[in-house]
Amino acid sequence: MKEIIVNLHMHTRYSDGGGSHHDIAEAALKCGLDAVIVTDHNVLVKDFEGYVASGRKKVLMLIGEEVHDQGRVPQKNHLLAFGANQELATYAGNPQTLINAVKESDGLAFIAHPNDPAAPTFNETDISWEDWGVKNYTGIELWNGLSELKTVVPTKLHGVFYAYFPWLVAHHPVQDTLNKWDELLTGNNHVVAIGGSDAHAMHLHLGPLSRIIYPYEFHFKAINTHIIISKPLTGDVNTDKRMIYEALSAGHCFVGYDLPGPTRGFRFTAQGREATAIMGDEIPVRGGVTLQAHLPHPAEIRLLKDGEVIQKGMNQQALAYIVTEPGIYRVEVYRNYLGLRRGWIFSNPIYVR
Ligand SMILES: [Zn+2]
Ligand SMILES: [Zn+2]
Repeated sequence: MKEIIVNLHMHTRYSDGGGSHHDIAEAALKCGLDAVIVTDHNVLVKDFEGYVASGRKKVLMLIGEEVHDQGRVPQKNHLLAFGANQELATYAGNPQTLINAVKESDGLAFIAHPNDPAAPTFNETDISWEDWGVKNYTGIELWNGLSELKTVVPTKLHGVFYAYFPWLVAHHPVQDTLNKWDELLTGNNHVVAIGGSDAHAMHLHLGPLSRIIYPYEFHFKAINTHIIISKPLTGDVNTDKRMIYEALSAGHCFVGYDLPGPTRGFRFTAQGREATAIMGDEIPVRGGVTLQAHLPHPAEIRLLKDGEVIQKGMNQQALAYIVTEPGIYRVEVYRNYLGLRRGWIFSNPIYVR
């Protein structure tokens, strides 16, 4: 088992971002990421897919797409598509048709920023997901860096403040999104959670002020998706791409907010009588199952079953729990950072059946 750190969901000048693919690669190399997934709005810019190296460091740049119906009023339903081998924007008119098209072209479909509030001061509307009747998608973006920013900027002054102190923005995923995820999971679905930065590297001009706010480099140190793969990356683009997307599709990953402290090394596993499981897997309850979580640093850890906290500990580095009932078990970890309690790690669930 090998853990890789991936930052996903970001925009370049091919849509509404302020930087280039080159800027992204440079920032990713600086931050030590293993891979990035670039997702411009309604355009698949495939040419940039591949490894980018600098000295002994390298990063895999993968290209996905964020698709939505540009004619819809109001704007809603943004979908992240990874690994699909065709342009998908033409299917945007109907969310289910779009999801089907992603799946038919061997791609992964994630509901982007499920709850994305309006920020009227900046003329940003609510672009939440509305069509919850859809089926057959891979998962949801549990924690989106930009949705959370929209919750903390009631005035322009707040906007300027957070532009200069971006590390104060993130607290935890939007609570409605966490609740929605638990609701979907207990409906007998596999729903993979990922963390996205929604990086735009926007240029801000306010009077005499001019700067890039939320540069790629900032995002790449913040909300990442940590993926567990069975073998180390090989350096071959197609092999590694397949390995990453297979693990992501299986939910072998967790959302880590790496700014308060590196989340690398977090593990959540299950040991049954005859089987073992990691995040995203199913395991039979028969004969009992022992769940174990291990943190890279002591913190507040909570174990949830079907959305309810069943065990918690403060300043703890490990947790063990013997399960005798079927359920959806997942872990949340919180720690203090810059004077506030913040979400640090959100695991994908282990499905005990
Ligand atoms: Zn979006
Ligand atoms: Zn986006």
